This record gives sequence, C-alpha cells and structure tokens, in this order.
Amino acid sequence: MSQKPIPNGSTETDRSTETRARDQRANDGANERVATVVPPDASPARCPYCGRPFPTEQLCTLHLGERHRSEWTEEERERYESAYDTETNELFIFHLKVIGALVVTFFSFTYTYVFVWS
Ligand SMILES: [Zn+2]
Repeated sequence: MSQKPIPNGSTETDRSTETRARDQRANDGANERVATVVPPDASPARCPYCGRPFPTEQLCTLHLGERHRSEWTEEERERYESAYDTETNELFIFHLKVIGALVVTFFSFTYTYVFVWS
C-alpha cells in the first residue's frame, strides 16, 4: 500500500531573520487593532508543542501540520489530513459562492443596462 504524500498547506518559505523581523514590525500595528487576548474563563484548543491557543480544534490541528511535522504522532497526522481535506472542501464551496456572486452581479448590471438604460 502506497502512502499518499502529506499535503503542505503552508505558503511560507524559508526566510531570513531580517525579513521576519520586518514582518513582525508590520504586524505589530495590526495586532493593536485586533483583540488577540484569550479571556481568562475561556478554554481554547492549545497546541501540545508550543502552547499556542486556537479558537477551534481544527485550526489547532492544521497548525500542527504546518509547524510541528517533525514532532507529531501518527494520530495527529491522520487528524491533520482529515482537517486539511475538510478545509479544502470548505474553500472549494467558498470559491463556488464567490463565482456565483460575480456571475449574478455581472448579469444584473448587463440586464439592467440592456432593458433599462438602452
Ligand atoms: Zn504549535
């Protein structure tokens, strides 16, 4: 039985420390506008390796596949593949909705132009 390759959803490539520092400075301003503090009474999903909190278990599982591939267990790998498939399907549905909205918008303007303004 051949094992299918593990999908790598990361678009991040190896970057220099200087590039990361510049990105961090750019993100500092963004973090001031978005609340990123976990409320004291919340119990979010946490990464077992770095302790980072996530709003959902699925996001935590996807994080494991992006950041902790060398450390994860077989069960975590299987959960990652399942979560990756789910996310891919959700993204495909989202793209269909966007295309549908664009088509409706295009034909709305076209018919409005043809039947009302001409
Ligand atoms: Zn982590």
